[in-house]
Amino acid sequence: MERRRFLKVAGAGAAAGAIASPAIAQSMPEVKWRVTSSFPKSLDTIYGASEVLAKAVSEATDGKFQIQVFAAGEIVPALQAADAVTNGTVEMCHTASYYYVGKDPTFAFGTAVPFGLNSRQQNAWFYHGGGNELLNEFYKKSNIYSLPGGNTGCQMGGWFRKEIKTVDDLKGIKMRIGGFAGQVMSKLGVVPQQIGGGDIYPALEKGTIDAAEWVGPADDEKLGFNKVAPFYYYPGWWEGGAALHFFINTAKWEELPKVYKSLLTTAAAQANIDMQAKYDARNPGALKRLVGAGAQLRPFSPEILDACLKASKEVYAETCAKNPDFKKIYDSMAAFRGDEYLWFQIAEYTFDNFLIRSRVSNTL
Ligand code: CA
Repeated sequence: MERRRFLKVAGAGAAAGAIASPAIAQSMPEVKWRVTSSFPKSLDTIYGASEVLAKAVSEATDGKFQIQVFAAGEIVPALQAADAVTNGTVEMCHTASYYYVGKDPTFAFGTAVPFGLNSRQQNAWFYHGGGNELLNEFYKKSNIYSLPGGNTGCQMGGWFRKEIKTVDDLKGIKMRIGGFAGQVMSKLGVVPQQIGGGDIYPALEKGTIDAAEWVGPADDEKLGFNKVAPFYYYPGWWEGGAALHFFINTAKWEELPKVYKSLLTTAAAQANIDMQAKYDARNPGALKRLVGAGAQLRPFSPEILDACLKASKEVYAETCAKNPDFKKIYDSMAAFRGDEYLWFQIAEYTFDNFLIRSRVSNTL
């Protein structure tokens, strides 16, 4: 008994000594970073991920490692966040990788690709399916080291001013839709438009565009799209599990002490799970309010989804044929997706499906 107590006290003494030792102090120097977000403060779901990360890092280092968060436009505009990291204007950004498909379509895989992975599978691929390694190998060409930093879950298919009942109804529709998915939509006759979040509502109101997709109920409600385009389609097949990333300048990453690299990695993982949890917690209430205010929910028909999948596969084949980076990551993602749905169709799908039916029939 006495011996055990002695060992406990001796252990505590050694730990206390270690905390005060100079070796630890040196591994926790004062570091001040800036993170530029690609999102406005009003979207606390997605913008909030940077604040979650910054708070976690600051608290774990007793304020020694400070990361100051800037909203889109404060340092650089939303879609220039990655460039600001590449050229070292900021140490870090929080962004959607697919904003940069204009530079190289391979950037799409960091966020989501049409008929790609859902959010659970996206994380499985990133952390345990080789996804992070493949993406970082690609991002390295742009001086970027990436950490997954959030997910919206499956998005909605967007707001349409008129109903889309057949594939033909898509022809000539001017739709605000991001990068790579726009290429697929254009095969079906849609005229894709790139419009920033704040400019979508007036374009839809004036009729400059006929449809717009953004994220899902929680964020869409804030932007008020239901007032100008009543038909709310689902699912957003181009974003089955849209992921966000923290992009870090590679030289700045390498300069960090090991303990800060570890903390940043952990804090990004915390931001990743926190964002998904926020969306999942807030979307039901927002959906109820939107429907209460007149939004009309419509699923894309199986015929439309089949046509969209076919068009997506054509775009994949064309892009793989001319872009080896794209092909390498596409092959990894597609093989992973096949195995994931082999598994998801068994327990996950059966469980969800039973509970969904039970809720609808009021037996839950
Ligand atoms: Ca979207």
